[in-house]
Amino acid sequence: MSAMPMERDDLQAYAASVANCSKCRLAQGRTQVVFGSGSPHAELMFVGEAPGFHEDKQGIPFVGQAGKLLERLLAGIGLQREDVYIANVLKCRPPGNRDPQPDEIEQCETYLFRQIEAIEPKCVATLGNFATKLLSGKQLGITRVHGQEQEVTLGGRRVVLYPLYHPAAALYTPKMLEVLEEDFRRIPGLISRELLAPEPVPDHPELALAAPVAEPAVQLGLF
Ligand code: SF4
Repeated sequence: MSAMPMERDDLQAYAASVANCSKCRLAQGRTQVVFGSGSPHAELMFVGEAPGFHEDKQGIPFVGQAGKLLERLLAGIGLQREDVYIANVLKCRPPGNRDPQPDEIEQCETYLFRQIEAIEPKCVATLGNFATKLLSGKQLGITRVHGQEQEVTLGGRRVVLYPLYHPAAALYTPKMLEVLEEDFRRIPGLISRELLAPEPVPDHPELALAAPVAEPAVQLGLF
C-alpha cells in the first residue's frame, strides 16, 4: 500500500476528494456523497450502513428518525453528535435503501478505513450487520455479537470495536430498543479503557482483526 498516513487535518480535504467518486454503480442514483460528520477528534465513532433518503438529500449521515434516536441515545450518556464522528460503510445511497452489495462495499471501504485512521477513535461502534462484519472481519450476525466489545487494530491503532443494533431496526422493535439502550450505557466505560499497544501494521486493516471465525455466514440485514 502506498497511501500516506492520514492525519485529522487531512480529513476535510479527503472528503472533498471523495465527493466526485464514481467507483461503483451507486454514483448514478445519488444526490451527493455522504462522507461523514462530527468531530475529527472524536474518541467515539459510529459506523452505520449507508445513507438513506434524507441523508442523501442533506449530505449528512443519520438525520432521519434513526438519527434522532441515535442523538437521544447519545444524550443518555452525556454526549451530543458534535462530540462523536458518524459515518457509513457506503457513502452513497443504494436505490430504494436496498442492502449494500459486496462489490460496492469493496469499492467504498477504503474511505472508511482512512476515516478511522485519521480520526483515531478509541471506540468504534458498528451499527448493524454490515459495519460489524466489515470491521470485525467475521461473519457473525449482529444478534449474536451486539454488546460484545473486542480490541482490534484499525488504521494502525488499537481500538475497541463495539457492535450495536442499528437504530433504524430498534425504532420498530421495542425489545431491540431496550437492548440497544442497555448496550449504549457501557460506551463510557469502553472509551476510558486502557488499550494495548498496536500490533504490527498490516497492509489491510481487515486482516489484522483477531480470532478466527467460528460460525457460518448469516445474512440478517439490519438484524
Ligand atoms: S458508494 Fe462509495 S465507492 Fe460507490 S460511488 Fe459512492 S463513494 Fe464511490
